Amino acid sequence: KLHNQVEEAKGNIRVFCRCRPLSKAEASAGYSTVVDFDAAKDGELGFLSSGSTKKTFKFDRVYTPKDDQGLPSTVDVFADASPMATSVLDGYNVCIFAYGQTGTGKTFTMEGTEENRGVNYRTLEELFRIAKERAETFTYNISVSVVEVYNEQIRDLLATSPSSKNMLCITVKAKNLMNGECTKSKLWLVDLAGSERLAKTDVQGDRLKEAQNINRSLSALGDVISALATKNSHIPYRNSKLTHLLQDSLGGDSKTLMFVQISPSENDLSETLSSLNFATRVR
Ligand code: ADP
Ligand code: MG
Repeated sequence: KLHNQVEEAKGNIRVFCRCRPLSKAEASAGYSTVVDFDAAKDGELGFLSSGSTKKTFKFDRVYTPKDDQGLPSTVDVFADASPMATSVLDGYNVCIFAYGQTGTGKTFTMEGTEENRGVNYRTLEELFRIAKERAETFTYNISVSVVEVYNEQIRDLLATSPSSKNMLCITVKAKNLMNGECTKSKLWLVDLAGSERLAKTDVQGDRLKEAQNINRSLSALGDVISALATKNSHIPYRNSKLTHLLQDSLGGDSKTLMFVQISPSENDLSETLSSLNFATRVR
């Protein structure tokens, strides 16, 4: 029985790796690609550290630069996030994160663009579609809030800030019209702050404090997910505002998806390695 519980808990956390294409600027600067997708179909990403031996990282799925957001004949990036809409309406708490260095496609995955919608839009669209489909049996009360964790402070944003540290929270209250049963669940859609390490961030004063707090939130998040993945008895939710805020949507029977975003460029090699190592910890 215990074994089953472990399997179940692990089954609630899925980690995907998504690599953006080499940018025009990187290509014209002559930077080469340090990742390969030879075994991407098996969820494996090859990483070449400065010409030496290849390391392999394993994920629940690897999305290559060719994989678009749901266009035919490519792997559908949204296919993994889509079933989460059903889970939320069924009463489960769900968290979907994008993690990675600035410029690796976190916002591209979560928000997407006008012609190429991301996870947020598609999950919400699916949520409303299913809610409508179930209208004879359930009434749903769906509300949305935008929250930002900044410098270890939680701010309720009324869409005033251009900051990319937002988290979108969708609360669903469901009532089953057949038996009167009520549930309340949350869907967090989180575009995390850039994960670039402090050592590289050449800043002082307020910016330094900001960078330290971002590091603190992200490493606390890593600690929590890693503790959950290994079924540790102590889950350190209280080490940051971010993990405290997400506490009831991480662990238990809630479901977590994390997109670890990386750059293919040799120029970003050390940041990419640090993101891949982060992913290994939480998987
Ligand atoms: P982040 O939010 O991590 O800082 P962005 O989402 O802003 O990164 O992406 C940086 C740039 O790379 C943007 O111009 C974006 O359109 C582009 N980009 C990111 N991922 C992809 C992708 N999979 N395919 C094509 N372009 C991408
Ligand atoms: Mg962004």
